[in-house]
Amino acid sequence: MIVMKANATKEDIQAVISRVKDSGLQAHLSQGVERTVIGVVGDIRKIQTDQMLRQNGVDRLVPISRPYKLASREFRVEDTIFPVNGMSIGDGKVLVIAGPCSVEDRGQLLETAHAVREAGANMLRGGAYKPRTSPYSFQGMGEEGLELLAEAREVTGLPIVTEVMEPDKVELVSRYADVLQVGARNMQNYALLHAVGKSNRPVLLKRGISATIDELLMAAEYILSHNNQKIMLCERGIRTFESSTRNTTDINAIPVLKNQTHLPVILDPSHSTGHWEYVAAIARAGVAAGADGLMIEVHAHPNEALSDGAQSLKPERFAELMDQIRAICDAVQRPLLRSPEPLINPASRPGS
Ligand code: PEP
Ligand code: MN
Repeated sequence: MIVMKANATKEDIQAVISRVKDSGLQAHLSQGVERTVIGVVGDIRKIQTDQMLRQNGVDRLVPISRPYKLASREFRVEDTIFPVNGMSIGDGKVLVIAGPCSVEDRGQLLETAHAVREAGANMLRGGAYKPRTSPYSFQGMGEEGLELLAEAREVTGLPIVTEVMEPDKVELVSRYADVLQVGARNMQNYALLHAVGKSNRPVLLKRGISATIDELLMAAEYILSHNNQKIMLCERGIRTFESSTRNTTDINAIPVLKNQTHLPVILDPSHSTGHWEYVAAIARAGVAAGADGLMIEVHAHPNEALSDGAQSLKPERFAELMDQIRAICDAVQRPLLRSPEPLINPASRPGS
């Protein structure tokens, strides 16, 4: 990476970027409060080191020691902050994404969406394309599900997080979603990572079931390589020898990721435990450990859920958990994000 001097001008920075590009390499600009850095990706032997050091405004050239470059704290010291529908993600406030595992029908989705909003969630989750272990299980409602999610956003104001499983569907899902979720099973689907990178939409990237933290960061690097920095990393539990829970929550991953990368870190205590009884404890632990947010499955009638009912909280339990999360937020001095205002006044919504 090329570290610029504190007094480097915009023109100096532009000239360095042009020089990097003229050498057939990629230049990624990170303009922080403390310093401006230009990440150079490609065969760096093409760079004439002494000429580059003589460029106006250049302070020094430093190799990035990690296998991931743009995702590393070495490249970008400050936390990455990006907007989603007017909310700032990663700015120190705690984000709560909640909703059903799958979109099942209009009534189910709207009931849950209103309930999570009232309890204080900031974004609505719900899968329209579901990566199921069995091909015979419910696969999701597809585009009809996306339409219902868009309607839920209209009435609650909550931005939508929903999964995309195929590169060819990125365009379609982006028409409805505010955040594209890349699921655990697709963390190393490189064609998909390229496609969501190119889309320039915010991405929630889930850790693979057996992926190391470095592999998660390498997956993020694919998205960053397209100049899309709007990435939330999500710890969702990993496979271990332990069988009393669906997965094992790697709480360690939260401080490790906060240390190694500038990207915001989200914890999903629903998939990481697989049992609703354990979700609240792990959600609280995640906030205490420094997560930038949580993603929690909520279903108005978990016994009837078409997927992941066993790990879904009922709305009243989710509301109780939100109170506990507020208390932890106070203790760690990181306020909860404020939810966006509904686009339609709830009092005027049909049926109320
Ligand atoms: C989900 O969020 O519903 C999901 C399928 O999660 P994961 O990819 O972590 O299994
Ligand atoms: Mn699920």
